[in-house]
Amino acid sequence: MIAEKIRQMKPSATLEINKKAKEMKAKGIDVVNLSVGEPDFDTPDPIKEFAIKAIHDGFTKYTEASGILELRRAICEKLERENGLSYAPEQIVVSNGAKHSIYNLLLAVIEPGDEVIIPAPYWVSFPEMVRIAGGVPVFCRWNERFKIDMEHLRSLITRRTKALILNSPSNPTGVVYDKEEIDAVAEILLKNNILCISDEVYEKIIYEGRQHISIASHSPEMKKMTVVVNAASKTFSMTGWRIGYIAAEKEIAKAVGKVQGQTTSAPCSISQKAAYFAIKEGEKLYSGMIKEFYNRRNFLIKNLPSDFVYPVPMGAFYLFVNYKDMDSVVLGKRLLEEKFLATVPGADFGADRFIRISYATSMDNLEKTVARLKEFVEENR
Ligand code: GLU
Repeated sequence: MIAEKIRQMKPSATLEINKKAKEMKAKGIDVVNLSVGEPDFDTPDPIKEFAIKAIHDGFTKYTEASGILELRRAICEKLERENGLSYAPEQIVVSNGAKHSIYNLLLAVIEPGDEVIIPAPYWVSFPEMVRIAGGVPVFCRWNERFKIDMEHLRSLITRRTKALILNSPSNPTGVVYDKEEIDAVAEILLKNNILCISDEVYEKIIYEGRQHISIASHSPEMKKMTVVVNAASKTFSMTGWRIGYIAAEKEIAKAVGKVQGQTTSAPCSISQKAAYFAIKEGEKLYSGMIKEFYNRRNFLIKNLPSDFVYPVPMGAFYLFVNYKDMDSVVLGKRLLEEKFLATVPGADFGADRFIRISYATSMDNLEKTVARLKEFVEENR
């Protein structure tokens, strides 16, 4: 019964392990869930109140397929104010989370056999989404800073290369591309007429004065060749509300809106109102959460046993950790079964000697994590 392409599709590792951890917890096992990447904070109250008012006002019907105008306007203002990027509302499409935005986009631009370059380590869903859209994922190696190996990138480009997916700050490594690195990528893409899908969902979760740079701000030419992807989920702790968006050239936005109109009609009306409020209010709603992520990151860096090595994250809320070059699936399984620590094996991120630890969890949980990892190291001396 099941279509071959779905049979071949891997389930989402992040969501699978999250489910398994929750099941173990429900059985009374003291699992520390370091798997799924979602802020543990509640959505800020003013956002919730705005959404409740929308319900009472009867804002409960279908909206425009690409999202309500006031939200698309607020997104344009945000992009102008915070990223120096000027877009019109018809260049914005709001979807059910950034994942959905990327999927819609791939459906809109990928012809069968088109190649999409995905720099490793990459977020688990990129390759599967490319495949289901009929494209071919092509993986680019990382350099000593866990960023795109530019030589390798150049060598991967063929006549079929359609797009590259850039993700800075990165899930799963937390590395952040600086201006020179962004420029280098932009120049390669422009020279070869390759579209950049720029996943910027962690843009606000960034540390030590680093600045997020959108590749679209490189030049007017690069802006035309970029689709900026962002979301309310991570910045405002709104994962369950499912609001993501793209900003792109009109032709692309129109095509993405058409895909959405024929498949999901529109994102949830109430969530759109909530995201409108969140994006309009901005920093005061999330600055406290970013400080807390930074404290947690520093706690882990300071206290993890030295056998665990990782690129020091400058953004996002993950540590991507190597332990004695152990295979990631074996290590992940052992940590879960022996220490009740749920992590995600790096194999699903294209790096099979690493595991991903999400520190979007309480300090109590991180203290337990450190204690259990210390025991694990001692037991394996
Ligand atoms: N992006 C998050 C993660 O990597 C959310 C879960 C997902 O959709 O994969 O854990």
